[in-house]
Amino acid sequence: MKDKADLIVMGAGGAGLAAAIVAADAGADVLLLEKAGQTGGSSRICGGLLAFAGTDIQQRHGIEDSSELLYQDLMEVGRHENNPALVRAYTDNQLATYGWLREQGVTFSDRPDASSGQSVPRCHVIDPDAMIEVLTRQARSRRRITMVKDAAGSRLIRETNGVAGMKIAHDGGTHDVAAAKGVVLASGGFTRNAALIHTFVPKQAKAWVSGGEANTGDGLLMAWQFGAGVRDVAYIQGTFGKHPTNHSTRHSLLAVYKGAIAVNLAGKRFVDESLSYKLLGTASLEQDGDYTWQIFDQPIYDSHEEEVSIFDVRHRHRDGMLVEANSLEELAAKTGLDAGTLKASVISYNDNVRMGGDPDFHRRHLVHNHGALVPIETPPFYAHASTAALYGTYCGLTVDPTMRVLDVFGAPIPGLWAAGEIVSGLHGAAYMTGSALGKALIFGRLAGGNASRVG
Ligand SMILES: Cc1cc2nc3c(=O)[nH]c(=O)nc-3n(C[C@H](O)[C@H](O)[C@H](O)COP(=O)(O)OP(=O)(O)OC[C@H]3O[C@@H](n4cnc5c(N)ncnc54)[C@H](O)[C@@H]3O)c2cc1C
Repeated sequence: MKDKADLIVMGAGGAGLAAAIVAADAGADVLLLEKAGQTGGSSRICGGLLAFAGTDIQQRHGIEDSSELLYQDLMEVGRHENNPALVRAYTDNQLATYGWLREQGVTFSDRPDASSGQSVPRCHVIDPDAMIEVLTRQARSRRRITMVKDAAGSRLIRETNGVAGMKIAHDGGTHDVAAAKGVVLASGGFTRNAALIHTFVPKQAKAWVSGGEANTGDGLLMAWQFGAGVRDVAYIQGTFGKHPTNHSTRHSLLAVYKGAIAVNLAGKRFVDESLSYKLLGTASLEQDGDYTWQIFDQPIYDSHEEEVSIFDVRHRHRDGMLVEANSLEELAAKTGLDAGTLKASVISYNDNVRMGGDPDFHRRHLVHNHGALVPIETPPFYAHASTAALYGTYCGLTVDPTMRVLDVFGAPIPGLWAAGEIVSGLHGAAYMTGSALGKALIFGRLAGGNASRVG
């Protein structure tokens, strides 16, 4: 382990890799630490959906989108609990980040899709494992980056002027490493720290948990000890659509965004299904029993795309995650739902769709402001048992739009930067699909670039 660098980047997921590459390209000597045995964290295992607006892919499909519409959607889905300056930092830098990823060699599928919080299809699909491999190779190819795996940052080193380095556990010992330009914390969220989750949101304890194996909130705690501000913890919410018992995929199915309804174990709808899947997750957890159901028919099934993780209904069908029936009565018998109640829920929903309104839950679209509602009427019918899964924590350190960490009084902590899931303020009360991985890459580039310009 070297004993000094210009910049220490802690965590080699999407945010850390982007920060390290940009910082090195700006001339900084970077020590890039990864606690796990391989790079990637949650970024490697995620659904691979990125929220970008105004891309050539969208243009090819005739989709009109812009940074401004992205901004409005992010604020709306976040219920204006977001920090507008950080949302601007995202929207002002997203298109350049899309271009930068392509320059690094990341490839995108040609089909954008609409999901949580999006008024137009703007999920840009990548293979997350392949993207991390590309960025890891890019980092390795830069002589200014020293990447060390199985190396965990444990404490920040304080000097009069702020953060001056880090204590790092590696190879059975602890090493003090000085960092002339400071430290970028990019250690992701803390889904793997049950005690912290319980401290902030005990009601989410029922949610299934995913995320990078080493994502235990180390960076959050290190900065917290240093006086950093923390926000948005109340908005930690699981994503709706995870099968409660079959874990052959770690991803959620969002058939609701293609037209399914969600019903509880009493067979009744309980929510406007077009809302952010975080809000759906919380509504689902609030129902009696351990899970709820997504109910849909063959045309809705057919509208799913196999290549998009959250819409890959065929994979789930093959893996036995769907209950299939030729009538709603048969579906009720197979799922244990009351046939009369289930039928009444579907018939009432279909009537409302035909009349152009949903007096029960005020659903207007398939998802957010996108897509016309469709009745559920053409057999076979399907049911997918669904619970909430915590894929990320999406709250944490307060930062300014340049990614400097702010203390509890709002002043920048000299030498301390952060990017990615560890950072709060972007998402607000709920969540737009693709904005977490987007945040990691966009804010990672910002943190690396700005930190490298210090001094
Ligand atoms: C199943 C799943 C599906 C998802 N799907 C999507 C999606 O489709 N779109 C989307 O936008 N978001 C999605 N997310 C969320 C998104 O993947 C993450 O928010 C994002 O990738 C976080 O990037 P990051 O770089 O901040 O953190 P990570 O990618 O988690 O990287 C953090 C890294 O820091 C390392 N680390 C931790 N502690 C230390 C330490 N003390 N010292 C050194 N290293 C440390 C970790 O090992 C890890 O490699 C999903 C998440 C999951 C789990």
